[in-house]
Amino acid sequence: MTPVLSLQAIGKAFEPGVPVLQDVSLRIEPGAMVCLLGPSGCGKTTLLRLIAGFEEPDAGAIHLGGQLVSRPGHVVAPEKRHIGMVFQDYALFPHMTVAQNIVFGLFRRPATHRDRRLADLLQLVGLQDMAERYPHELSGGQQQRVALARALAPGPQLLLLDEPFSNLDVNLRRQLRQEMQDVLRRTDMTTILVTHDQEEALSLADTLAILDQGRVVQYDTPEAIVQRPCTRFVAEFLALGHFLPGEIRDHCIVTEMGPVRLNPDMPTVPDGCREIELLIPPECLTLCDNGHGTRARVTQVTFQGTRKLYTVRLPSGAHLQGLCAHDAPLQTGAQINVRYEPTVLITFPSEP
Ligand code: ADP
Ligand code: MG
Repeated sequence: MTPVLSLQAIGKAFEPGVPVLQDVSLRIEPGAMVCLLGPSGCGKTTLLRLIAGFEEPDAGAIHLGGQLVSRPGHVVAPEKRHIGMVFQDYALFPHMTVAQNIVFGLFRRPATHRDRRLADLLQLVGLQDMAERYPHELSGGQQQRVALARALAPGPQLLLLDEPFSNLDVNLRRQLRQEMQDVLRRTDMTTILVTHDQEEALSLADTLAILDQGRVVQYDTPEAIVQRPCTRFVAEFLALGHFLPGEIRDHCIVTEMGPVRLNPDMPTVPDGCREIELLIPPECLTLCDNGHGTRARVTQVTFQGTRKLYTVRLPSGAHLQGLCAHDAPLQTGAQINVRYEPTVLITFPSEP
Protein backbone atom coordinates (compact mmCIF):
# COMPACT_ATOMS: atom_id res chain seq x y z
CA MET A 1 0.00 0.00 0.00
CA THR A 2 1.27 3.48 -0.81
CA PRO A 3 1.85 5.33 2.46
CA VAL A 4 -0.03 8.60 2.89
CA LEU A 5 3.20 10.23 3.95
CA SER A 6 6.79 9.22 3.72
CA LEU A 7 9.73 11.20 5.07
CA GLN A 8 13.19 10.17 3.94
CA ALA A 9 16.21 11.36 5.92
CA ILE A 10 14.88 14.85 6.52
CA GLY A 11 17.37 17.41 7.82
CA LYS A 12 16.70 21.01 8.78
CA ALA A 13 18.71 23.82 10.39
CA PHE A 14 17.77 27.47 10.77
CA GLU A 15 21.34 28.46 11.60
CA PRO A 16 24.41 26.80 10.13
CA GLY A 17 25.81 24.15 12.45
CA VAL A 18 22.69 24.05 14.66
CA PRO A 19 20.58 21.18 13.32
CA VAL A 20 16.94 21.21 14.42
CA LEU A 21 16.04 17.95 12.64
CA GLN A 22 18.45 15.21 11.61
CA ASP A 23 17.90 12.14 9.47
CA VAL A 24 14.16 11.91 10.21
CA SER A 25 12.49 9.06 8.34
CA LEU A 26 8.86 8.03 8.88
CA ARG A 27 6.23 6.14 6.92
CA ILE A 28 2.58 6.73 7.70
CA GLU A 29 -0.09 4.33 6.45
CA PRO A 30 -3.66 5.33 5.56
CA GLY A 31 -5.94 5.73 8.58
CA ALA A 32 -3.09 5.76 11.10
CA MET A 33 -2.97 7.96 14.16
CA VAL A 34 0.68 8.81 14.72
CA CYS A 35 1.84 10.84 17.71
CA LEU A 36 5.10 12.77 17.61
CA LEU A 37 6.23 12.94 21.21
CA GLY A 38 9.19 14.84 22.57
CA PRO A 39 10.21 17.59 24.96
CA SER A 40 9.70 21.24 24.15
CA GLY A 41 12.21 22.48 21.57
CA CYS A 42 13.05 19.06 20.08
CA GLY A 43 11.73 20.01 16.62
CA LYS A 44 8.12 18.78 16.56
CA THR A 45 6.52 21.94 15.16
CA THR A 46 9.33 22.31 12.64
CA LEU A 47 8.64 18.79 11.41
CA LEU A 48 4.91 19.54 11.02
CA ARG A 49 5.73 22.77 9.15
CA LEU A 50 7.99 20.83 6.78
CA ILE A 51 5.23 18.29 6.15
CA ALA A 52 2.70 21.09 5.54
CA GLY A 53 5.04 22.85 3.13
CA PHE A 54 5.75 25.99 5.19
CA GLU A 55 9.46 25.12 5.43
CA GLU A 56 11.99 23.75 2.99
CA PRO A 57 14.18 20.80 4.05
CA ASP A 58 17.98 21.10 3.83
CA ALA A 59 18.25 17.38 3.19
CA GLY A 60 15.99 14.46 2.33
CA ALA A 61 12.60 14.18 0.65
CA ILE A 62 8.90 14.17 1.53
CA HIS A 63 6.32 12.21 -0.45
CA LEU A 64 2.59 12.67 -0.01
CA GLY A 65 0.39 9.96 -1.49
CA GLY A 66 3.40 8.75 -3.47
CA GLN A 67 4.20 12.18 -4.95
CA LEU A 68 7.37 14.09 -4.24
CA VAL A 69 6.35 17.35 -2.52
CA SER A 70 9.54 18.52 -0.78
CA ARG A 71 13.25 18.27 -1.27
CA PRO A 72 15.99 20.91 -1.11
CA GLY A 73 15.18 23.48 -3.80
CA HIS A 74 11.64 22.19 -4.46
CA VAL A 75 8.63 22.73 -2.21
CA VAL A 76 5.02 22.25 -3.36
CA ALA A 77 2.90 25.06 -1.83
CA PRO A 78 0.87 24.26 1.32
CA GLU A 79 -2.49 24.91 -0.39
CA LYS A 80 -1.70 22.27 -3.03
CA ARG A 81 -1.00 19.52 -0.49
CA HIS A 82 -4.52 18.68 0.73
CA ILE A 83 -3.38 18.76 4.32
CA GLY A 84 -5.55 19.97 7.20
CA MET A 85 -3.91 21.66 10.14
CA VAL A 86 -5.02 22.58 13.65
CA PHE A 87 -2.62 24.92 15.41
CA GLN A 88 -1.96 25.17 19.11
CA ASP A 89 -3.95 28.43 19.43
CA TYR A 90 -6.65 27.20 16.94
CA ALA A 91 -6.15 30.39 14.83
CA LEU A 92 -9.89 30.88 14.21
CA PHE A 93 -10.93 34.00 12.30
CA PRO A 94 -12.36 36.21 15.07
CA HIS A 95 -14.65 38.24 12.78
CA MET A 96 -16.26 35.11 11.26
CA THR A 97 -18.99 32.92 12.71
CA VAL A 98 -18.52 29.24 13.43
CA ALA A 99 -20.18 28.39 10.10
CA GLN A 100 -18.04 30.86 8.16
CA ASN A 101 -14.89 29.57 9.82
CA ILE A 102 -15.74 25.97 8.96
CA VAL A 103 -16.54 26.57 5.27
CA PHE A 104 -13.64 28.98 4.80
CA GLY A 105 -11.63 26.48 2.78
CA LEU A 106 -14.62 25.56 0.55
CA PHE A 107 -15.13 28.88 -1.24
CA ARG A 108 -14.54 27.34 -4.66
CA ARG A 109 -17.14 24.62 -4.18
CA PRO A 110 -20.83 24.98 -5.17
CA ALA A 111 -23.08 26.42 -2.45
CA THR A 112 -25.14 23.22 -2.17
CA HIS A 113 -21.98 21.21 -1.49
CA ARG A 114 -20.86 23.78 1.10
CA ASP A 115 -24.18 23.69 2.95
CA ARG A 116 -24.25 19.91 3.08
CA ARG A 117 -20.65 19.70 4.22
CA LEU A 118 -21.25 22.32 6.91
CA ALA A 119 -24.27 20.44 8.28
CA ASP A 120 -22.29 17.18 8.36
CA LEU A 121 -19.31 18.75 10.11
CA LEU A 122 -21.41 20.64 12.68
CA GLN A 123 -23.02 17.35 13.54
CA LEU A 124 -19.70 15.50 13.60
CA VAL A 125 -18.25 17.88 16.18
CA GLY A 126 -21.55 18.45 18.03
CA LEU A 127 -21.92 22.19 17.36
CA GLN A 128 -25.27 22.21 15.50
CA ASP A 129 -26.64 24.95 17.78
CA MET A 130 -23.60 27.20 17.60
CA ALA A 131 -23.27 27.86 13.86
CA GLU A 132 -23.97 31.60 14.16
CA ARG A 133 -21.77 32.30 17.18
CA TYR A 134 -18.43 34.08 17.01
CA PRO A 135 -15.24 32.51 18.41
CA HIS A 136 -15.20 34.79 21.49
CA GLU A 137 -18.67 33.43 22.39
CA LEU A 138 -17.31 29.87 22.61
CA SER A 139 -15.43 27.96 25.30
CA GLY A 140 -11.89 26.74 24.63
CA GLY A 141 -13.15 23.24 23.93
CA GLN A 142 -15.78 24.50 21.48
CA GLN A 143 -13.21 26.64 19.67
CA GLN A 144 -11.06 23.61 19.30
CA ARG A 145 -13.92 21.65 17.75
CA VAL A 146 -14.46 24.48 15.24
CA ALA A 147 -10.77 24.37 14.35
CA LEU A 148 -11.01 20.62 13.84
CA ALA A 149 -14.13 20.92 11.66
CA ARG A 150 -12.48 23.66 9.58
CA ALA A 151 -9.41 21.50 9.02
CA LEU A 152 -11.55 18.51 7.99
CA ALA A 153 -13.90 20.50 5.71
CA PRO A 154 -11.99 20.24 2.43
CA GLY A 155 -11.50 16.47 2.93
CA PRO A 156 -7.72 16.51 3.43
CA GLN A 157 -5.60 13.41 2.84
CA LEU A 158 -3.71 14.11 6.06
CA LEU A 159 -4.49 16.00 9.25
CA LEU A 160 -1.78 17.66 11.34
CA LEU A 161 -2.52 18.65 14.95
CA ASP A 162 0.03 20.70 16.87
CA GLU A 163 -0.46 20.30 20.64
CA PRO A 164 -4.24 20.76 20.24
CA PHE A 165 -5.04 20.25 23.91
CA SER A 166 -2.29 22.24 25.56
CA ASN A 167 -4.42 25.32 26.27
CA LEU A 168 -7.09 23.36 28.10
CA ASP A 169 -7.37 22.23 31.70
CA VAL A 170 -6.75 18.58 32.56
CA ASN A 171 -10.36 17.33 32.75
CA LEU A 172 -11.45 19.07 29.58
CA ARG A 173 -8.33 17.79 27.89
CA ARG A 174 -9.23 14.16 28.66
CA GLN A 175 -12.79 14.64 27.46
CA LEU A 176 -11.80 16.38 24.22
CA ARG A 177 -9.14 13.85 23.53
CA GLN A 178 -11.76 11.15 23.66
CA GLU A 179 -14.14 13.16 21.47
CA MET A 180 -11.47 13.92 18.92
CA GLN A 181 -10.41 10.30 18.79
CA ASP A 182 -14.02 9.29 18.09
CA VAL A 183 -14.40 11.91 15.33
CA LEU A 184 -11.15 10.91 13.65
CA ARG A 185 -11.96 7.19 13.83
CA ARG A 186 -15.36 7.81 12.26
CA THR A 187 -13.78 9.73 9.38
CA ASP A 188 -10.86 7.26 9.12
CA MET A 189 -8.57 10.27 8.93
CA THR A 190 -4.82 9.79 8.70
CA THR A 191 -3.51 12.01 11.49
CA ILE A 192 -0.24 13.20 12.97
CA LEU A 193 -0.59 14.69 16.42
CA VAL A 194 2.25 16.52 18.11
CA THR A 195 2.47 16.56 21.88
CA HIS A 196 4.91 16.75 24.77
CA ASP A 197 2.40 14.94 27.02
CA GLN A 198 3.17 11.22 27.46
CA GLU A 199 -0.30 10.34 28.73
CA GLU A 200 -1.86 11.96 25.69
CA ALA A 201 0.48 10.21 23.27
CA LEU A 202 0.12 6.80 24.89
CA SER A 203 -3.67 6.99 24.97
CA LEU A 204 -4.19 8.27 21.41
CA ALA A 205 -1.48 6.86 19.18
CA ASP A 206 -1.50 3.64 17.26
CA THR A 207 2.09 4.50 16.42
CA LEU A 208 4.41 6.67 18.44
CA ALA A 209 7.47 8.53 17.14
CA ILE A 210 9.74 9.69 19.95
CA LEU A 211 11.93 12.67 19.15
CA ASP A 212 15.10 13.46 21.03
CA GLN A 213 17.00 16.55 19.91
CA GLY A 214 15.73 16.45 16.37
CA ARG A 215 16.07 12.72 15.82
CA VAL A 216 13.40 10.02 15.84
CA VAL A 217 14.87 7.59 18.37
CA GLN A 218 11.98 5.11 18.41
CA TYR A 219 9.02 4.56 16.10
CA ASP A 220 6.68 1.78 17.14
CA THR A 221 3.39 0.97 18.86
CA PRO A 222 2.98 2.44 22.36
CA GLU A 223 2.96 -1.10 23.82
CA ALA A 224 6.24 -2.02 22.16
CA ILE A 225 7.90 1.23 23.27
CA VAL A 226 6.77 0.85 26.88
CA GLN A 227 7.98 -2.77 26.95
CA ARG A 228 11.25 -2.10 25.15
CA PRO A 229 12.33 1.54 25.36
CA CYS A 230 15.39 1.71 23.12
CA THR A 231 17.28 4.46 24.93
CA ARG A 232 17.49 5.74 28.46
CA PHE A 233 16.01 9.02 27.22
CA VAL A 234 12.85 7.19 26.03
CA ALA A 235 12.46 5.37 29.36
CA GLU A 236 12.97 8.61 31.28
CA PHE A 237 10.70 10.68 29.09
CA LEU A 238 7.89 8.13 29.38
CA ALA A 239 8.52 8.04 33.15
CA LEU A 240 8.78 4.25 33.13
CA GLY A 241 10.85 4.12 36.30
CA HIS A 242 14.09 5.04 38.01
CA PHE A 243 17.59 3.72 37.28
CA LEU A 244 20.10 1.86 39.36
CA PRO A 245 23.74 1.33 38.35
CA GLY A 246 24.74 -2.29 37.92
CA GLU A 247 27.54 -4.50 36.74
CA ILE A 248 27.45 -7.66 34.65
CA ARG A 249 29.16 -10.50 36.50
CA ASP A 250 28.79 -14.29 36.11
CA HIS A 251 25.62 -14.06 33.98
CA CYS A 252 24.03 -11.78 36.55
CA ILE A 253 23.30 -8.11 36.89
CA VAL A 254 24.68 -7.11 40.26
CA THR A 255 23.27 -3.97 41.87
CA GLU A 256 23.22 -2.84 45.48
CA MET A 257 19.97 -4.78 45.81
CA GLY A 258 21.83 -8.01 44.99
CA PRO A 259 22.25 -10.15 41.86
CA VAL A 260 19.57 -10.83 39.25
CA ARG A 261 20.21 -13.75 36.93
CA LEU A 262 20.24 -12.92 33.22
CA ASN A 263 18.07 -15.02 30.97
CA PRO A 264 20.35 -16.36 28.19
CA ASP A 265 17.32 -16.67 25.84
CA MET A 266 16.50 -13.03 26.30
CA PRO A 267 19.50 -10.83 25.71
CA THR A 268 18.88 -7.74 27.78
CA VAL A 269 22.36 -6.29 28.02
CA PRO A 270 24.11 -4.48 25.20
CA ASP A 271 26.97 -6.62 23.84
CA GLY A 272 30.28 -6.31 25.63
CA CYS A 273 28.85 -3.94 28.18
CA ARG A 274 29.87 -4.39 31.84
CA GLU A 275 28.61 -1.23 33.44
CA ILE A 276 24.89 -0.72 32.97
CA GLU A 277 21.90 1.17 34.26
CA LEU A 278 18.98 -1.02 35.22
CA LEU A 279 15.46 0.35 34.80
CA ILE A 280 13.40 -0.20 37.96
CA PRO A 281 9.68 0.35 37.27
CA PRO A 282 7.68 1.06 40.46
CA GLU A 283 5.57 -2.05 39.78
CA CYS A 284 8.72 -4.16 40.27
CA LEU A 285 9.80 -2.66 43.58
CA THR A 286 7.96 -3.77 46.71
CA LEU A 287 8.23 -2.08 50.08
CA CYS A 288 7.73 -4.09 53.25
CA ASP A 289 8.50 -3.30 56.88
CA ASN A 290 9.66 -6.79 57.74
CA GLY A 291 11.45 -9.67 56.05
CA HIS A 292 14.23 -9.66 53.49
CA GLY A 293 15.38 -7.03 51.11
CA THR A 294 17.56 -3.97 50.97
CA ARG A 295 17.25 -1.40 53.72
CA ALA A 296 15.84 1.90 52.50
CA ARG A 297 14.21 5.04 53.82
CA VAL A 298 10.95 6.53 52.53
CA THR A 299 11.62 10.08 51.33
CA GLN A 300 8.34 10.92 49.65
CA VAL A 301 4.80 9.61 49.32
CA THR A 302 2.86 10.58 46.20
CA PHE A 303 -0.75 9.85 45.37
CA GLN A 304 -1.05 8.71 41.79
CA GLY A 305 -4.68 8.15 40.89
CA THR A 306 -5.72 5.19 43.01
CA ARG A 307 -2.30 4.09 44.19
CA LYS A 308 0.41 5.46 46.44
CA LEU A 309 3.85 5.74 45.02
CA TYR A 310 6.74 5.71 47.51
CA THR A 311 10.08 7.29 46.76
CA VAL A 312 12.84 5.55 48.69
CA ARG A 313 16.51 6.23 49.23
CA LEU A 314 18.90 3.28 49.18
CA PRO A 315 22.12 3.21 51.26
CA SER A 316 24.11 4.39 48.20
CA GLY A 317 21.93 7.49 47.93
CA ALA A 318 20.12 6.23 44.81
CA HIS A 319 16.42 7.06 44.68
CA LEU A 320 13.84 4.59 43.41
CA GLN A 321 10.06 4.43 43.42
CA GLY A 322 8.00 1.47 44.53
CA LEU A 323 4.66 0.27 45.83
CA CYS A 324 3.78 -0.96 49.27
CA ALA A 325 3.03 -4.65 49.87
CA HIS A 326 0.53 -4.03 52.65
CA ASP A 327 -2.27 -1.56 53.29
CA ALA A 328 -0.83 0.15 56.38
CA PRO A 329 0.37 3.58 55.23
CA LEU A 330 4.09 4.24 55.46
CA GLN A 331 5.22 7.70 56.50
CA THR A 332 8.04 9.78 55.13
CA GLY A 333 11.19 8.90 57.06
CA ALA A 334 10.16 5.29 57.72
CA GLN A 335 12.91 2.67 57.55
CA ILE A 336 11.75 -0.25 55.43
CA ASN A 337 13.01 -3.03 53.18
CA VAL A 338 12.66 -3.05 49.42
CA ARG A 339 12.54 -6.06 47.14
CA TYR A 340 13.13 -5.94 43.41
CA GLU A 341 11.08 -8.50 41.47
CA PRO A 342 11.57 -7.91 37.76
CA THR A 343 9.22 -9.14 35.08
CA VAL A 344 11.60 -8.17 32.30
CA LEU A 345 15.08 -6.72 32.53
CA ILE A 346 15.62 -3.42 30.77
CA THR A 347 19.15 -2.06 30.81
CA PHE A 348 21.10 0.70 29.13
CA PRO A 349 24.83 1.20 28.80
CA SER A 350 26.13 3.27 31.66
CA GLU A 351 26.79 6.85 30.59
CA PRO A 352 30.44 7.85 31.03
P1 ADP B 1 8.95 21.99 19.45
O1 ADP B 1 7.73 22.20 18.61
O2 ADP B 1 9.34 20.55 19.58
O3 ADP B 1 8.85 22.64 20.79
P2 ADP B 1 10.25 23.63 17.44
O4 ADP B 1 10.17 22.84 16.20
O5 ADP B 1 9.29 24.75 17.59
O6 ADP B 1 10.20 22.67 18.71
O7 ADP B 1 11.71 24.25 17.57
C1 ADP B 1 12.87 23.46 17.51
C2 ADP B 1 14.07 24.37 17.55
O8 ADP B 1 14.14 25.14 16.34
C3 ADP B 1 14.06 25.38 18.68
O9 ADP B 1 15.37 25.50 19.18
C4 ADP B 1 13.63 26.66 18.01
O10 ADP B 1 14.15 27.79 18.67
C5 ADP B 1 14.20 26.52 16.61
N1 ADP B 1 13.39 27.22 15.58
C6 ADP B 1 12.13 26.90 15.21
N2 ADP B 1 11.68 27.70 14.23
C7 ADP B 1 12.69 28.58 13.97
C8 ADP B 1 12.87 29.67 13.06
N3 ADP B 1 11.91 30.01 12.19
N4 ADP B 1 14.05 30.32 13.08
C9 ADP B 1 15.03 29.96 13.93
N5 ADP B 1 14.94 28.96 14.82
C10 ADP B 1 13.79 28.27 14.84
MG1 MG C 1 5.92 23.14 19.04
